[in-house]
Amino acid sequence: MKYIPPKFERLADMAGIDVSRLTEQEARKILEDLRWPDGIKCTHCGSNNVTRLKSNPEKTTRDGVIQCNACRQQFSVTHGTVMEDSHITLRQWIQAFHFMSSSKKGISALQLKRELGLHSYQSAWHLAHRIREAMSNQPLSGLLKGVIEVDETYIGGKPKKGGDEGPNKRGRGTKKAPVLAMVERKGKVISRPIENVTAKTLKSAIREVVDKESTIMTDEWPCYQGIGKEFKGGHKTVNHGTGEYVNGDAYTNNAESYFALLKRGVHGTFHHISKKHLSRYCNEFSFRWDNRKVNDGERTVEAVKGMQGKRLMLRDLVGKSKVTNG
Ligand SMILES: [Zn+2]
Repeated sequence: MKYIPPKFERLADMAGIDVSRLTEQEARKILEDLRWPDGIKCTHCGSNNVTRLKSNPEKTTRDGVIQCNACRQQFSVTHGTVMEDSHITLRQWIQAFHFMSSSKKGISALQLKRELGLHSYQSAWHLAHRIREAMSNQPLSGLLKGVIEVDETYIGGKPKKGGDEGPNKRGRGTKKAPVLAMVERKGKVISRPIENVTAKTLKSAIREVVDKESTIMTDEWPCYQGIGKEFKGGHKTVNHGTGEYVNGDAYTNNAESYFALLKRGVHGTFHHISKKHLSRYCNEFSFRWDNRKVNDGERTVEAVKGMQGKRLMLRDLVGKSKVTNG
């Protein structure tokens, strides 16, 4: 059967096959409409008195350049976003946003390189990290409200046979990277690697992102004790040790579901994630969790909208050293 491209103009309505057939002009139109739903505004001064410049064959004016008639500066849709100063085409950017928004377990840089026909692994790896940056929640302060399940897990390799993994099967006390998740019931999750699982670290993370009216749900790990005094809804605990997983409404099943998803992705797709970049993968998985109720196109739109006001240069990711793996 012949594929007939739909007359969709909205990225939210598009499936992967539609996204893969976008021209560069269509991709630019989509990005401009998402960034400026009420008409193009200058990225330097905010004026809407702007003129689109015509690109010319000598390429002294590039495609998509817009001139501000108020401040006389020029800009394009990528200015001041994660896409600025990129040699990747806009259609490849949208495709990458779509792949990363629709793959439940994430997509490796190697696969992204193949799918998009990029010239190097490093370029795919940097692209993926810039999309994770767009997916990150900002600002975090007081973001989570209501009943918040808090739990920790450990990421990084399967437990070794014979076990140098420490005394506790849940990983407390091992050399793997501890990751904290704070999950709003029926809502958002914030997850991040933490230095250690001490009371000081756990409580300061909770204080930073949870609204003071909330209720905190945890297991009986002693480091959480006392946190209830700081929140209007108090602190409820569930005892995993005795197999008592659900104690009235005191359960942390949502946090456990989130960790199961994160681990399937980390072990299945990325294989090895350095501690240095783990927080970025946490952002990616949190983003998909937060937007789990919408379709792939709508989730892609949410990710693209997050591109503004964020930058992530390659030198910030790798320092001066070369990229060797994920
Ligand atoms: Zn201006």
